[in-house]
Amino acid sequence: MLDRAGALGDLEQRANPIRRVVVDHGGRQAAHLRLGQTTKLVTRPGLLISQAEIEGSLRRRLGELGGAVEWSREVLHASQDADGVRVQLTDGRTARCHWMVGCDGAHSRVRNVAGIGFPGVQIIDRFLLADVVAELPVPRDAAAVWLHGTEMMGAFPLPGNDLWRLMAPVTDAAPCDLSSSQVLDLLARQLHERSGCPVSAVRGAQWTSTFRIHRRLAHRFRQGRMLLAGDAAHIHSPFGGQGMNTGIGDAENLAWKLALVVYDHADPALLDSYEAERRPIATEVLQSTSALTAMALGDTRLARTLRDHVFVPSLNLSIVQRLVWESASQLKISYRTGPLARTSRWSLRSGPRPGDRVPDQPCLRRNGSLTRLHAELGARWALLIPSTASAQQTQTYSDRARDRLGAGTVTVLKSQAGRLGQVMLVRPDAHAGSCGLSPTSLDAWLAGILGRDSTTATVGS
Ligand SMILES: Cc1cc2nc3c(=O)[nH]c(=O)nc-3n(C[C@H](O)[C@H](O)[C@H](O)COP(=O)(O)OP(=O)(O)OC[C@H]3O[C@@H](n4cnc5c(N)ncnc54)[C@H](O)[C@@H]3O)c2cc1C
Repeated sequence: MLDRAGALGDLEQRANPIRRVVVDHGGRQAAHLRLGQTTKLVTRPGLLISQAEIEGSLRRRLGELGGAVEWSREVLHASQDADGVRVQLTDGRTARCHWMVGCDGAHSRVRNVAGIGFPGVQIIDRFLLADVVAELPVPRDAAAVWLHGTEMMGAFPLPGNDLWRLMAPVTDAAPCDLSSSQVLDLLARQLHERSGCPVSAVRGAQWTSTFRIHRRLAHRFRQGRMLLAGDAAHIHSPFGGQGMNTGIGDAENLAWKLALVVYDHADPALLDSYEAERRPIATEVLQSTSALTAMALGDTRLARTLRDHVFVPSLNLSIVQRLVWESASQLKISYRTGPLARTSRWSLRSGPRPGDRVPDQPCLRRNGSLTRLHAELGARWALLIPSTASAQQTQTYSDRARDRLGAGTVTVLKSQAGRLGQVMLVRPDAHAGSCGLSPTSLDAWLAGILGRDSTTATVGS
């Protein structure tokens, strides 16, 4: 996603490679989960980096595009009418916009003023977290998890000299308000008990935090001209590291739809497909991360038995490792059952179906230069034409797509060696739009999802 948004920068070079998760149970290594192997879906290695670095890279890209984050301008209230949203800021100013996207986190004010409920429950009372400088008995390309009865601790290597992120639930005996040095002290002692390394191995903390874990899902992702994305729409356990990924996935799904509506290429009804496609993904993330958390913490005797005798040993199996890796990467996500894919016919040939994510692959531009599919997406759609197609066939498909979507927003690519063997319109978020259709049915599919008359195309701009 960062690559398509032009925000990857040098994050890959600065991140820490992660190749395995080692699970220690009661003092012995119970599982060795390999990560980062190349599969059909996942072609990049596993990397660990702080979220702050990713946010920094996104801000840099926003700056390149002419935007900027305006700090300390809090939204106090917002109200909407048929034409737009009026936003009141805490500095006394007001602003008016056509659409408002609430990416304002778990306590979202946009969600509140839109009157959207956020039902759910607390699933863990308190968790300790610290980024520490420490010498741990764990290789730097491995994350370590120690399980012991109902206690657990995780250590994740971050880029930097001996920098680790430590996480553990707070034991009942701990005081309510913990200072930073108390958090560090508790984590160092738990680490000593679990791993045997001396308390002095933890030399200091870059920052510490305590947090509670809730599982909540917004009733709706859209209320008129107000939309929700990220933690404003869904929060869940950090086990499995899915929160930010899910939020950026929301944003990528919404961005191209909103752009089509704002530039009058689509009816606002297209925005309803955002919730239809993303809410099931958020629901699945809530369920899987809650199950993983319950399993890791072994709250009940049954859960501990399942964890120790079924779940943890199964992590040694290569088929389970592949499943974990593909799910955690979120590259398995498909919108096949969503409203946009349902209206698209597809041929029975192998390859992605409408709604599936189309893996990155080498392609040729019309001038013959080599490129990658995902390098061309993000801000544009890609029309993938088999290398066997004639110039006239290519032109006909391209004209249809550009008439509907706007001339500058469709790039025409020849897929090498007929790898897909069919004409495919790939959405800016790398999911297949329509596959293997004639120019007429491509046009009809676009007219359907854009809410336009199928006999007249909008004039491209
Ligand atoms: C311990 C922990 C570990 C995690 N680890 C991972 C991980 O490994 N991988 C992963 O993918 N995710 C992880 N997550 C989850 C991830 O941090 C969140 O899902 C992510 O930060 C959500 O991003 P967001 O932009 O939706 O919300 P936030 O990050 O909460 O950002 C909301 C923004 O809105 C601003 N804001 C709030 N109210 C207003 C207002 N009224 N007006 C204007 N601005 C406002 C805030 O200042 C903030 O800048 C973890 C979370 C925790 C707690």
